[in-house]
Amino acid sequence: MARVLLEHVTKRYPNGFEAVKDLNLEIRDGEFLVLVGPSGCGKTTTLRMIAGLEEITKGNLYIGERLVNDVPPKDRDIAMVFQNYALYPHMSVFDNMAFGLKMRRYPKEEIRRRVQETARMLGIEDLLDRRPAALSGGQRQRVALGRAIVREPQVFLMDEPLSNLDAKLRVLMRAELKKLHERLGVTTVYVTHDQTEAMTLGDRIAVMHRGVLQQVGTPDEVYRDP
Ligand code: ADP
Ligand code: ADP
Repeated sequence: MARVLLEHVTKRYPNGFEAVKDLNLEIRDGEFLVLVGPSGCGKTTTLRMIAGLEEITKGNLYIGERLVNDVPPKDRDIAMVFQNYALYPHMSVFDNMAFGLKMRRYPKEEIRRRVQETARMLGIEDLLDRRPAALSGGQRQRVALGRAIVREPQVFLMDEPLSNLDAKLRVLMRAELKKLHERLGVTTVYVTHDQTEAMTLGDRIAVMHRGVLQQVGTPDEVYRDP
């Protein structure tokens, strides 16, 4: 686990557009922070900078005590889940979840233990032999979550992970995500444009508008009537 600190972070894309402007934000160790705001306000850009998928134009980014501006994604100890969870279609659920651990040469027994433990936590332990095509949308999303957290990353990043699910399942998965976070206590940054989602999930909420951070606080502080 680790805090994430952004200091005066600016992102200017090659075409000159400034998607994120002088962003100062600390995501505390173990907290669930929701980054919320209308489409195009710079949420995904911010998340991609934390992940190392997008270069920072100006400013500093720390994970734990470490300055990571120039650290490649694979060395940042971060896991991500996106809206379009891409599972490997030709692999079983087990192999999908084990993939990152295999790449990192974890011992076989440890891989089996971790995958089974994580699958149990997510209620997908009976699906380990199936292919993604034989799963429902909610089950696939759980596998995507499982694949991310099985590595026990220091920081967990999610970009609209529930937006492809129908309304009912979305509400259910929100509650499950919340429980999962309470159990793992991993520092989490969650991007959404949905205020209800932000209120339900966030320990704190960071509101962005046109590349600028406007407000950070608990759901009560951010959404209370003036
Ligand atoms: P959000 O996640 O809040 O919807 P994004 O971070 O995806 O917003 O995008 C923020 C702004 O940056 C948008 O106006 C978008 O069009 C612009 N943008 C995103 N990627 C690029 C790019 N590669 N080049 C230029 N502009 C981009
Ligand atoms: P991690 O658990 O580290 O996030 P990933 O599952 O994202 O690992 O895979 C690491 C990289 O390997 C990805 O960039 C992925 O595109 C690539 N890769 C390797 N083998 C495959 C495969 N069979 N199908 C799709 N991508 C693969």
